[in-house]
Amino acid sequence: MKVAIIGGGASGLFVAGKLTQAKIETYIFDGNEKFGKKIYITGKGRCNVTNNCDKENYLKNVVRGKKFMYSAINQFDSQDTIDFFEKLGCPLKTEHGGRVFPSSDKASDITKALEKNINKDFIQIHLNERVISINKKSSFIVKTEKFDYFFDAVVIATGGKSYPATGSTGDGYKFAKMFGINVITPYSALVPIKIKDKFCSELEGLSLKNVQLNAKINGKVKSLFGEMLFAKNAITGPIALSLSSYIGENKEVELSLDFKPALTSVKLEERIMRDFKENLNKEISYIIRGLMPHRLTSIFLNCCGIDEHKKVNSITAKERNKIVNKLKNFTLIYEGLYPIESGIVTAGGVDLKEINPKTMESKKVSDLYFVGEVLDIDCLTGGYNLQTAFSSGYAAAEAIILKADKV
Ligand SMILES: Cc1cc2nc3c(=O)[nH]c(=O)nc-3n(C[C@H](O)[C@H](O)[C@H](O)COP(=O)(O)OP(=O)(O)OC[C@H]3O[C@@H](n4cnc5c(N)ncnc54)[C@H](O)[C@@H]3O)c2cc1C
Repeated sequence: MKVAIIGGGASGLFVAGKLTQAKIETYIFDGNEKFGKKIYITGKGRCNVTNNCDKENYLKNVVRGKKFMYSAINQFDSQDTIDFFEKLGCPLKTEHGGRVFPSSDKASDITKALEKNINKDFIQIHLNERVISINKKSSFIVKTEKFDYFFDAVVIATGGKSYPATGSTGDGYKFAKMFGINVITPYSALVPIKIKDKFCSELEGLSLKNVQLNAKINGKVKSLFGEMLFAKNAITGPIALSLSSYIGENKEVELSLDFKPALTSVKLEERIMRDFKENLNKEISYIIRGLMPHRLTSIFLNCCGIDEHKKVNSITAKERNKIVNKLKNFTLIYEGLYPIESGIVTAGGVDLKEINPKTMESKKVSDLYFVGEVLDIDCLTGGYNLQTAFSSGYAAAEAIILKADKV
């Protein structure tokens, strides 16, 4: 059996390792001059390679494709990923939130390990060779910028559409369509959220910890707790990025921030009353500074319609209520999401209805497989997207090996 893998990213390299270990003649094509260009920039250059969690927790972090991934994660889970890299001489460490990184903090060590796993006797490496089209007659014809090649099976591991400079330009969708396979139009996920309020840019670089970001998306509320960051005309940071994945293509979105999610409005009011009593002759901005970063104080009071120099002893009960309400429900005007190219991951992709979840094989075209981000699967940050690349890659490779054994 002769197999082509289109794409030498996380999923493609993983499949190449498994197939060549099983002594299957494998060709791997990548348009870049080297493998794993996207891996290199993952986890800010440290590569959060998986999440040290059980299957249920992995599935909780899959935004779209949860049901589909059930079988693949049962075949190869995060513990398997950890064992896989450690056996290849790439020690790993687990950080907060279960995030797993190479102990060296070097993403390039992950690519090196994936390359090391490839049995050199069974691989033909074709770098700097972009695939242009794929057809099937009696066998698959893979047309590149240089030649036409013939294969018994093809694995499409071309990734999504985000960060196109890494080589992931969405070609896999084009290949799927060539076979009449449906593709869910790709859209932004894990991207900054654009905010209309002018004050947003004034706060650029300000990070808020332990806050709750709420989004009413088409009437349904999604709330995330943690850290976020103000950027130019946008919000970003862990909870904003995650929330963007839930927003997706929805247009009707209302955003609000809860600065004190650990306190109910009643408890918060009690605390403020106490603060007021102890500081009657101070300016109101003094009290607010105790509740949020200094840079936010005037903006916050301005949004409440209260002069920041007003003395605490002249704040009315109505104004105090306003403060409590705004602390629990500070509105941000939603403008939209950043474009797909700036996303950590691409939502949308090859329609999962077209793919066998146990094998990643197309239901329409036998011996054609799709793995990794090209599929309509996207996860939250924390190592889950790379885990998806490995789990889907494992399922496809196992299925191909099984077929090869039968030939
Ligand atoms: C900035 C950033 C940080 C990230 N950090 C993390 C993280 O820490 N943890 C995590 O789990 N996920 C992270 N991700 C997401 C993760 O990197 C991807 O989900 C994962 O790399 C997808 O793997 P893949 O193999 O499906 O695709 P890719 O890694 O995108 O690989 C696809 C490959 O296919 C090649 N290719 C495409 N078209 C063709 C063609 N026509 N011919 C030949 N070759 C082609 C490309 O050159 C590329 O090398 C991050 C993403 C970004 C952008």
